[in-house]
Amino acid sequence: MQPLRGTKDILPNEIRHWQKIYQVVDKILTHNNYQEVRTPILENTELFLRSIGNFTDIVNKEMYSFNDRGGRSITLRPEGTASIARALISNKLYLGSRMNRLWYLGPMFRYERPQKGRQRQFHQLGIECIGSSMPRADIEVIRIAIKILKQLKLEEWRLEINSIGNLEERIKYTNHLKLYLIKYEKDLDEDSQRRLKDNPLRILDSKNTKTQEILNYGPKLREYLEMESVKHFQEVCNDLSRLSIKYYINDKLVRGLDYYNYTAFEIKTKGINEQNTICGGGRYDELIKQLGGPYTPSVGWAMGLERLTIIMKEKLELVESKKVIYIANSNSNNSDTIWQVINIIDKYQLHFELDISNSSLNKQIKKANQIGSKICFIIGNDEILNKYITIKWLETGTQQRVPIYKIDNYIKYVKFSLKT
Ligand code: ATP
Ligand code: MG
Repeated sequence: MQPLRGTKDILPNEIRHWQKIYQVVDKILTHNNYQEVRTPILENTELFLRSIGNFTDIVNKEMYSFNDRGGRSITLRPEGTASIARALISNKLYLGSRMNRLWYLGPMFRYERPQKGRQRQFHQLGIECIGSSMPRADIEVIRIAIKILKQLKLEEWRLEINSIGNLEERIKYTNHLKLYLIKYEKDLDEDSQRRLKDNPLRILDSKNTKTQEILNYGPKLREYLEMESVKHFQEVCNDLSRLSIKYYINDKLVRGLDYYNYTAFEIKTKGINEQNTICGGGRYDELIKQLGGPYTPSVGWAMGLERLTIIMKEKLELVESKKVIYIANSNSNNSDTIWQVINIIDKYQLHFELDISNSSLNKQIKKANQIGSKICFIIGNDEILNKYITIKWLETGTQQRVPIYKIDNYIKYVKFSLKT
């Protein structure tokens, strides 16, 4: 049996990277006053239709939607922001505080062609700064993204930023762009030809060189931005410079979700083929109102954790915690001593493994050596009968007998001498 195409098991040797990410992220975000939320993986399909936008790739061809047994249309969430906005509204979080700083980490689902760094079930870490329209909020979230990448030892990244204006500006621009591109329709790539009808703005994102060339001579989004938009963008750029965060203005950067306005940004790295965008985000001032909540300007981003772990694996050295005590034991009916000793080891929080192989004591001691344990506790028949334990320090081969009544003190000494 194989896992479903585009899904993966995260096995024990990889899970340490995931735990490391969680630890780092939890610490940084807590310091920055962000609180974790966990929303359901299943949502009403309508949530995504009303937020992400009908003509986006996600809604058009990537959603895992199905009817449940009650006939409701359900979707496995393809992204986190819509769910967070929904949770804010359902739980009326905006009543408690005007500002809500939230973060999430969990699986997302998109029916895409699987490639390195692109799966059908993947994981996103995301933060949402909800309730502020200030450019400073944009900076806050960007600064945190970079802080996280730095802590995870990701040094090669490139921040690209753009302003996509407000809805009116964008409609005006999109209309002009469409009029311009129609003249070159036949020269555009297939995807862009399709988008020309439904979602012309996304054509800017095309990877096709011919399409890009045509775009270079067309109308520019930046020329359609009015005072407010320009001012907001300027302030964001100024503060990035103040923080010495290097950025590149990419005037063709648009996001694949309809709810963004003003600031849009991506953080890219090298080396995962085309899947080099590890973080994408922007401002979404209208989304919460659009979903039935109060007007709540917000900004946030999401990071793809599979892409992050691909790079981390090369950069981050994780020390594996070694087993300290291996408990070799004989096949005696009386296991009281074994459990008594385990309870004490547990009390001192030492890493141990109980041999349950039913093989000979010699084989068990060999195993203890193989896996690199520090100490082997040997609890054979004689030990049980005479109430002592044979303790063998595997690095030196030193062996000693410790009476059961002294074992608590002995383990305490082990704990102290190993400083674990
Ligand atoms: P892409 O252009 O690579 O498809 P996107 O614009 O669809 O990305 P977003 O919706 O902005 O991506 O999601 C934010 C991040 O989540 C991406 O930058 C990426 O790191 C990650 N991501 C998105 N889709 C996938 C996927 N199918 N598999 C793995 N990671 C993904
Ligand atoms: Mg995508």
